[in-house]
Amino acid sequence: MENSLKGQKAIITGSSSGIGKGVALSLAAAGADIVINYAGSKEKAEEVASLASQFGGKVLVIKADVSDETEVKEMFSKTIQELGTVDILVNNAGLQKDAPFHEMTLDQWNKVIGINLTGQFLCAREAVNEFLRRGINPHISKALGKIICMSSVHQEIPWSEHVNYAASKGGIMLLMKSIAQGYAAKKIRINSICPGAIRTPINKDAWGTPDSLNKLMNLIPYKRIGEIEDIGKVAVWLASDQSDHINGTSIFVDGGMTLYPGFTTNG
Ligand code: NAD
Repeated sequence: MENSLKGQKAIITGSSSGIGKGVALSLAAAGADIVINYAGSKEKAEEVASLASQFGGKVLVIKADVSDETEVKEMFSKTIQELGTVDILVNNAGLQKDAPFHEMTLDQWNKVIGINLTGQFLCAREAVNEFLRRGINPHISKALGKIICMSSVHQEIPWSEHVNYAASKGGIMLLMKSIAQGYAAKKIRINSICPGAIRTPINKDAWGTPDSLNKLMNLIPYKRIGEIEDIGKVAVWLASDQSDHINGTSIFVDGGMTLYPGFTTNG
């Protein structure tokens, strides 16, 4: 996939850590100029930027809270000013605020929906507007623009004590499909990646000790935890013309987590 994204400009939200970092480095390795977006630690974002710079493309670091309309608009205008346009958006930023349903506060609900779902709406809307403004450039890509939404196996698997998170991911599925339906004729492609358990800070409780990692394997038929590179490779493919006929779909990268492993031996 070397150079499959040469000349393309990509924004990856929440890319100072975890999956976003993995995707940013994979896109940079494939030749894209990238924007590392962060909301928290500038140092961590700059560390990722310095790793990404080794691939030779341009790298910008932009602070923006994806749930804030003004900050999202500013992130897109800075990117367009510095890089000329946006060809690829990876809607990755997300978080969890867990609680048993009957104890969940409205703040916990609003925070997760605001970042995980509204954040994806705000960024996708800016991206679509930029794609339409720029027009197609067949030397760069067959598509007018590509959006990748980081969803989760929990767009499908219900998750008690995480109802805000599961609802946000279920929402992303129909947000993604509805945008795909509306803009396919304009040559915009939008798809989701649904990770299972990937080794990142968001789920350290599930892999941080040998015991917890062992227990996690009950949920993964393929018997290994996912790594950020597993997601990065799929993101490069989805952003490239290699996947030009793929639109409005969800790709599960989960080692079989959605295969109901509890039923393996008759349930
Ligand atoms: P992570 O905590 O390392 O990454 C999340 C990133 O989002 C962080 O860099 C964080 O700073 C950023 N972020 C949070 N709020 C933000 C905001 N308001 N604006 C901008 N950035 C913000 O965790 P991760 O596992 O890398 O998660 C990345 C995405 O992958 C999330 O959408 C998550 O739901 C999804 N996901 C992760 C897993 C997994 O197993 N790790 C599984 C399924 C889905």
